[in-house]
Amino acid sequence: MSDTAKETLGFQTEAKQLLQLMIHSLYSNKEIFLRELISNASDAIDKLRFESLDQENLLEGEGDYAIHVSVDKDAKTITIADNGIGMTREEAIEHLGTIAKSGTASFMASLTGDQKKDAQLIGQFGVGFYSGFIVANKVEVHTRRAGTSATDGSLWVSQGEADFTIEAKEKDSRGTSITLYLKDDCAEFADDWRVRSVIKKYSDHIAVPVMMPVARDADTESEQSSWEAINEATALWTRSKSDISDEEYQAFYKHISHDFDDALTWSHNKVEGKLEYTSLLFVPKNAPFDLWNREMARGLKLYVQRTFIMDEAEQFLPLYLRFIKGVVDSNDLPLNVSREILQQDGAVESMRSALTKRVLDTLAKLAKRDDYKGFWSTFGQVLKEGLGEDFANKDKIAKLLRFSTTHNDTPEQTESFDDYVARMKPDQDKIFYVFAETHNTAKRSPHLEYFRKEGIEVLILSDRIDDWAMMQLGEYEGKKLQDVAKGDLGEQSDEAKRAQEALEQSSEGLVERMKAVLAEQVEAVRPSVRLIESPTCLVVGDFDMGAQMRRIMEAAGQTVPKTKPILEINPEHPLLKMLDAEVDEDKFRDLAFILFEQAQLAEGGQLEDPASYVQRLNALLLKLSG
Ligand code: ADP
Repeated sequence: MSDTAKETLGFQTEAKQLLQLMIHSLYSNKEIFLRELISNASDAIDKLRFESLDQENLLEGEGDYAIHVSVDKDAKTITIADNGIGMTREEAIEHLGTIAKSGTASFMASLTGDQKKDAQLIGQFGVGFYSGFIVANKVEVHTRRAGTSATDGSLWVSQGEADFTIEAKEKDSRGTSITLYLKDDCAEFADDWRVRSVIKKYSDHIAVPVMMPVARDADTESEQSSWEAINEATALWTRSKSDISDEEYQAFYKHISHDFDDALTWSHNKVEGKLEYTSLLFVPKNAPFDLWNREMARGLKLYVQRTFIMDEAEQFLPLYLRFIKGVVDSNDLPLNVSREILQQDGAVESMRSALTKRVLDTLAKLAKRDDYKGFWSTFGQVLKEGLGEDFANKDKIAKLLRFSTTHNDTPEQTESFDDYVARMKPDQDKIFYVFAETHNTAKRSPHLEYFRKEGIEVLILSDRIDDWAMMQLGEYEGKKLQDVAKGDLGEQSDEAKRAQEALEQSSEGLVERMKAVLAEQVEAVRPSVRLIESPTCLVVGDFDMGAQMRRIMEAAGQTVPKTKPILEINPEHPLLKMLDAEVDEDKFRDLAFILFEQAQLAEGGQLEDPASYVQRLNALLLKLSG
């Protein structure tokens, strides 16, 4: 097929689905299409501004950038035209017919069919160009790539159903002009005043002028000839903080993030001195759909002296802050800076560390607010990655952590290290935590019995990353972080020591017998004062990997050297008394194994030979009922 012929092409499956969903779920928010299309137009101009730095011919002798919006009330159309980079025929097919974002398929699968929830999700996904179909039953895109000749223009047309057409159509000026044929009940967007007010609301911060025909008297039918800018058209971050309203910050946030919802908070700073730059950093409310994909699009928009250079400049913030959105505008970097140069540039390195601190300070401020709870449940786990990634800021990150503890006894993570420390016993020198795969397993751990009895608070950890995170952190303000399932519990009072010794003496015979039977399974058997209600529990050495960590590593395909746990027993427990009294060696062996295996189960662990466990237990049950 020749390049000028008219072709009909189908939308990519995901694109088709997204289109349909968007039309239905965003209907109550229809005006956002203007924000999205103007935002795209401004991005297209930013791209041209950048490419023309070293290819002046792209400008075709016309360097005044603008976006023109016009309406036709009778025809019920609205047109948004930019003189930005434009698209070739292939680019129009590719960019407007498919969704390039990675993870689109899994995103689509996560939609629920519930309009309200889906609207929220779609907002996080970024609605973009397709939002035009919320208000239009036909969209025409007339476009030409900057630097090509007039005859290279293309016309893309779609009704927003299964397919679109593309054909050659001459275009004198470079860039893209999008005309929406409005649905009957969306005719309001062909009204000059309505459109002005929406643009005003969303576009003041956009650095290019958005022009509309000078307002005329309703009854003079003169030709539309003169245009006026209806936005402020200065890059928001270059204005002084005191002149910018919260609404303007939020509108700007939506422009750069394509998020539907407001930002939670932001930090806007101008740095002068050895390095000069301005940064405007936003903390979102919602996680992007691909937060857990560490390769996901992330990072800040980089400008150099107000010229847009690149999206997703990931060198300015560490990976664990990948959810932060914003811009950084440098006065020091060269305009032709590339990603490779950014990686080696010393100035970038110092900006990165300053921006990281800036974000952590912003979060510390946010932590004093009620809505930190929401932030923590959305981004807490990502932040924990920082404990391993960002050694220099470990302490700052630690202050931002929130936990569930035996003090509040709910799965909600609301308590900080500082809260814990304030409640520590006068002679307590460690911060204790228990870790298991679920909150319920963790909080029922036999290891906690002693702590509950003594009234010592323990952090209850059940996020997969927690065990690792605590090891990375090691201590908080000089207080060692201690896994209650590891090693000994630290300083004991004289009284406790005496109790322990007495227990050891009185249970010596039992311990020896158990050791002999379980020699393959355990490193040692020892009586313990930490058990109150449970008969047994497992303990690993201070420097051994915890049971959880081992399971995670094994699941990840790593071989972990086997270290045997220590079996702690509660000689006061009726089951151990019964065991002690057992004279039949076979029965003794069965019961000892059951007690050991139960200790594994109570930790959320898996038995090596579950069938034998069941057999042993059944034999025991039969005896009871017989
Ligand atoms: P996004 O902007 O998030 O990439 P969109 O659906 O809004 O997604 O747009 C898809 C792509 O279409 C853009 O990335 C861009 O390449 C192209 N595009 C959209 N609008 C324009 C425009 N006005 N000028 C040039 N290219 C555009």
